[in-house]
Amino acid sequence: MENPDRLETFNREIRNKIAGKRSPRRIWVTSLSFCLRRAALSTYLGTFKYERTGEMLLGTLLHRWVQENVDLEEIEFEVPLEYGITDGWILVGRADAILGDRVLEFKLKGFNQENGLGSLDEMEEPSKIWVEQLNAYLNMAGLDEGYIYVFDRDGLDFRHFKVERDEEAFSKMLGRARVVINGVEALEQGKFPAWIIPRYHTECESCLFKPICSAVDRPWEKSR
Ligand code: SF4
Repeated sequence: MENPDRLETFNREIRNKIAGKRSPRRIWVTSLSFCLRRAALSTYLGTFKYERTGEMLLGTLLHRWVQENVDLEEIEFEVPLEYGITDGWILVGRADAILGDRVLEFKLKGFNQENGLGSLDEMEEPSKIWVEQLNAYLNMAGLDEGYIYVFDRDGLDFRHFKVERDEEAFSKMLGRARVVINGVEALEQGKFPAWIIPRYHTECESCLFKPICSAVDRPWEKSR
């Protein structure tokens, strides 16, 4: 008997291949913590790899440093993770490390009294964005506990903060992924996803797509 859902999947796979798109299509965990319009544009145009900031490059160096200097048998670095969102779409990410049944994330942070915390000791909790990303990795890996290691950029001193798996927060993140999927599908039909506004109005300043959004609707003026 014909299964319409599977037929639709089959049709989508063929359409994706004809259009030269990777299948299943991927949304990165890290992109869901910021402007979802940017995530949709980036997925549609395939520009994710060009959006690495200097901060991200420093983070990569830190990961490499930890990897080269920690010699534990039960630790695995740069662990790829994925989770099915909906037909033809997966959420993907890369946990910095998994030690036994704990996911570890390594973050590098500069401290400066003039624009925030003056020292690592003053830090009471990790940033909300770091927690939501680690929580996504916990849910994708099916693990319950993780730690965010924050390294002081100036002295390489560090502290670690525990994060417990929160399924409700992960389900909100999957909701954000569905907004991105709707945005990509709109773009594919020639419509601009103007209903998606930035999460933080400061994001637009350094965004690759600012000239496009500037021509369409200047969303940063509405979100102030
Ligand atoms: S310019 Fe602003 S609204 Fe447009 S994609 Fe970038 S962050 Fe989002």
